[in-house]
This record gives sequence, structure tokens and C-alpha cells, in this order.
Amino acid sequence: MNVPFVNLNLQYQSIKQEIDEAVSKVFETGTFVNGRFVSDFEELFAKAYGVKHCISVANGTDAIYICLKMLGIGYGHEVITTACSWISTSEAISQTGATPVFVDIEEDYCHINPQVIASKITNKTKAILPVHLLGQAADMNTIMRIARMHELPVLEDSAQAHFAKLENRNVGLFGLAGTFSFYPSKNLGASGDAGAIITNCEDYANRLRLFARHGANNKHDHIIEGINSRMDEIHAAVLLAKLPHITRWNRLRQQHASYYNFLLLGVAQVSTPKVRSRAEHVFHIYQIRCEQRDALEHFLNSRGIETGRHYPVPLPFLKPYDYQMHRPYDFPIASKYQKEILSLPMFPEIEKNQIEYVVNSIREFYTR
Ligand SMILES: *Cc1c(COP(=O)(O)O)cnc(C)c1O
Repeated sequence: MNVPFVNLNLQYQSIKQEIDEAVSKVFETGTFVNGRFVSDFEELFAKAYGVKHCISVANGTDAIYICLKMLGIGYGHEVITTACSWISTSEAISQTGATPVFVDIEEDYCHINPQVIASKITNKTKAILPVHLLGQAADMNTIMRIARMHELPVLEDSAQAHFAKLENRNVGLFGLAGTFSFYPSKNLGASGDAGAIITNCEDYANRLRLFARHGANNKHDHIIEGINSRMDEIHAAVLLAKLPHITRWNRLRQQHASYYNFLLLGVAQVSTPKVRSRAEHVFHIYQIRCEQRDALEHFLNSRGIETGRHYPVPLPFLKPYDYQMHRPYDFPIASKYQKEILSLPMFPEIEKNQIEYVVNSIREFYTR
């Protein structure tokens, strides 16, 4: 049996007609940027989030960069973020000229440890950037409390956590703004690169939009120098077609996660993912922690099962951050996770017998 890590074709097949119609409508209108699909998507995404403003952008990395820039963040400033994320998070900080200041993760979740944040705050700190990694909320209540105490804005990298909740509130709505990626394999994915920012602050929303559209209020009225960061009509049309399905897709992911958890009960060498109290995890990634990770990974791959690591190397230990001269003991939890984490196949259309095959293979590995 082959079990892919994700299968975007199955998703397409399940809503083929809706996608095909959406895409051909874009070609028929002949408008490929700045059109109706983008504005409709912004409106419906904002409505689904219960937020006042949604600004569509070209990708999730831009979304973070634009948010930081419009806070006036640049050279000589510091932004506090997590040691465990995709590089977009820290790249966007460096792109402004500021320095990413990494914080170790929590013992039970791979999210920024709020207890460490305060010790990293200096007079150069301009923002806190937590990431809702893997599809689950970071500890936003504690983070917001610390941020308020130090009067720092919070931006939430929600690229992996569309409609994930904490205490019944969608992530992305706790801080000043939430940023999203619609990279094809995300829980809500476009047919290429796309992203968005949500915020309830009107003044900030206006500045974000201005910067993402060449600093112009309308075509030739340039107020500042901005960048070109637009969502294409074709991606907006695809996202509009997919938006009505996201709740069901997230629910399926949750059901698959429960089935994995159930089948993995009693496999002493494996810890299944912990869900934060009063949080709703949307399982962008189903990540276990396990013994003999490298050997298990190799065994599963040899059995036709694709796996992943999210992420193989914590951000502070990636080459671009050599200049910060970090050592493993600076990030003890992230360093420990690095050796134990393994992501198993997870997508809404995965079959029960595929999950069974994955878990049987894991059991087989440990009883050889
Ligand atoms: C996917 C992702 C992003 C943004 O990715 P883009 O490819 O630029 O859309 C940012 N942060 C995290 C944690 C991500 O997983």
C-alpha cells in the first residue's frame, strides 16, 4: 500500500465541478488582478472570521512582512518569535531589517513558551510574533497578558491554523492582526501562492492595504512606496469555491487524528499530539514524538508511507542565523523535539485503512 503525506488531487476530484467553473469564470471575465473574486473572497473570509477587515496578499510570507513594516519595524529593532516554525516567520522579520529573537517552545506543545518571552524583551523589542504551528493555537491568553504589560503589539502567524480555535475564538483574532497562507497544501489552499491578513483595526487595515498595493490609494495616487503583493483572481476564485468546505475538511482531519490516537494507544514508544485545554486543533499536521525516530521514519518510508518533519532543524540553528551563535542548550526543548518528531500522513480524504496501515507498520517496527 502507498500512503502519501498529502493528496491534493483527491480534494480536487471531490469538488472538481466547482473548481473548474470558478476557474473558467475568471478567464471569461478577463480580469486577472484587482477584480471581483478577490474582493468577494476578502469579504467572505472576513465574515467567516467575524473580523472587520481582510487584506488579500500574494503569499503568507508577505502577509507577515507587510504587518511588520506597517508597525514601523525595521533596522535596530527586535521581534520576538518562536524557535520552531517554517522559515517564513523569521525571514519576514529579517526582511524588514529587524532581528528575530528566538524563544524556546513549551514542553507539551511546539509553540513559543510564554514564560520565556519576558526575559527576551529589551528596549529594542517592537512586537511579539507567535505561530499557531501544526494547526493548534499557541498559549494566546498568557502571550496577550505579557504583551499588554509591555505595551507590545502581537501578530499571529496563523498560516497553519485556518479556523483553529482557543476558548471558542478563532486564532488570528487575539492580537493586532492574524496572517494566513493559502499555499496549496495548507488546510485552505489556493492553486498557487496566496495569503491574507485579518485585523479589526481600521487604520492599520488601511495602511496594510496601501503598502501591499504600491502605496497607492487608487491607481496613480502613490502616497508611500509600497510593494506589489496581490492575490490573483484565479486563486481567489478557487478559494471562494473551497471556503464552504473548510469546516467539513477540518472536522475530517480531527476525526482522522482521533483514529490515529486511538490506534496508537498502548504503543509505549510513541506520544500522540497533545491538545491544549479549551483549544480546537485543526491538524494541519499530525505530529507524533517517538523513540528511534530516524529508524522508524526509514522503516515507514520503505513501506510506502510518506512522512515529514516539522521542522527538521529549529530556526535558531539554521545557517542564516549562525550569526546569533546559538547552542542547543539555549533551546533545550526545541533541541529535544528535533530528535523525536515525526509527521504522519494527514489530509481530509485519507482512508481509515490507510491510517490502520500506518499504525500497524509503526507497531511492527517496534516489535521486530
Ligand atoms: C506556510 C507558512 C507561512 C507562509 O508561507 P507562504 O508559502 O509564503 O504562503 C508562514 N508561516 C508558517 C508557519 C507557514 O507554515
